[in-house]
Amino acid sequence: MNIPFHKPSLSGKELQYMEEAALSGKISGNGPFTEKCQHFFEEKYKFAKALLATSCTDALEMAALLLNIKDGDEIIAPSYTFVSTVNPFVMRGAKVIFADSNSENPNIDASGIEALITQRTRVIIPVHYAGIACDMDKIMALSVKHGIEVVEDAAQSIDSYHNKAALGGIGTMGAFSFHETKNIGCGEGGLLTINKPEYFSRSEIIREKGTDRVAFSRGEVEKYGWVDVGSSFLPSELLAAFLLAQLENLGPIQKKRKELWNQYQLGLQSLEIEGKVKLPYLPSFATNNAHIFYLVLKEPEQRSELIRYLKSKDIQTAFHYLSLHKSDYFKGQYKGPELPNADHYSNCLLRLPLFNSMTTEEVQTVCSHVKEFFTKH
Ligand SMILES: *Cc1c(COP(=O)(O)O)cnc(C)c1O
Repeated sequence: MNIPFHKPSLSGKELQYMEEAALSGKISGNGPFTEKCQHFFEEKYKFAKALLATSCTDALEMAALLLNIKDGDEIIAPSYTFVSTVNPFVMRGAKVIFADSNSENPNIDASGIEALITQRTRVIIPVHYAGIACDMDKIMALSVKHGIEVVEDAAQSIDSYHNKAALGGIGTMGAFSFHETKNIGCGEGGLLTINKPEYFSRSEIIREKGTDRVAFSRGEVEKYGWVDVGSSFLPSELLAAFLLAQLENLGPIQKKRKELWNQYQLGLQSLEIEGKVKLPYLPSFATNNAHIFYLVLKEPEQRSELIRYLKSKDIQTAFHYLSLHKSDYFKGQYKGPELPNADHYSNCLLRLPLFNSMTTEEVQTVCSHVKEFFTKH
């Protein structure tokens, strides 16, 4: 039995909705399917405004444009994350100040942020790794105290909460991903949430190439033209149609993923008790959206051996980020202190297969082989 690391799947009406969109005579963006997707997020999670975008990366680029990020501004982000957390801001000229992760989980160590704040700090970008909330109370308190914006990289965080607040709805803005590998996907896609009304009107202009086309289509202006900077961040109705079908099945998808995740947790907890690995840690303020199930091993060599061992049993696994402060692009510019926790996750974290169509038998097989490996190691 070959168990892939990830496999995209249809949840119901994806093809039917795409056909409807194709036959409707409108397949460019901002049609009824786009509206329905946005409405879904505004209703269910109480986001003040939700704008579908072509990717999470693009949603973060919109955020950087909306916040007028410019040369010399500083942003604070974890080093243990995907490049897209910081690249949209770097493209506007910002300097990244990297923070370390918690020792308990890969999220940004909120207690270390204040020491990194300077006169130039404009934005803090928490990343809710594996959909598990960062310490948003601490981060929002810093935001208020120092007058700094917070943009949540909520790429992995659909349907997850910090206490009662949906992730993506806490900072000034938030960005979600609908890349194939996320819980809900349409191949490539994203969403920008905007939680401060002062950014509403400009956000629609930036998404529409710097034009007031949206105001025009609502009949608010007589003709549309160039009114600001902007780019092409609006996805086609075909993608929105696919996405809507997935959103309609969010409940069953999440239920299934949580069952699989809990089965991993139960199946592997003896290894944690024996001190062989660490399993995902959820603080009391965080919910679990079952985006990733990971193990943290003790040594990089042991991780390589486990990857090879599972591969020999036809089970595909994946490690995750390489610390950005040590990346080829950034390492020459990095002047800060060592970030030992970020490096530890870079070297020792391993993700196990978890996807919507996975079966409990498959999770069982993975757990058995992982445990078998540790009887010999
Ligand atoms: C997936 C991911 C992104 C990028 O999402 P895209 O939609 O592919 O642009 C950004 N940040 C994090 C933390 C991610 O997991």
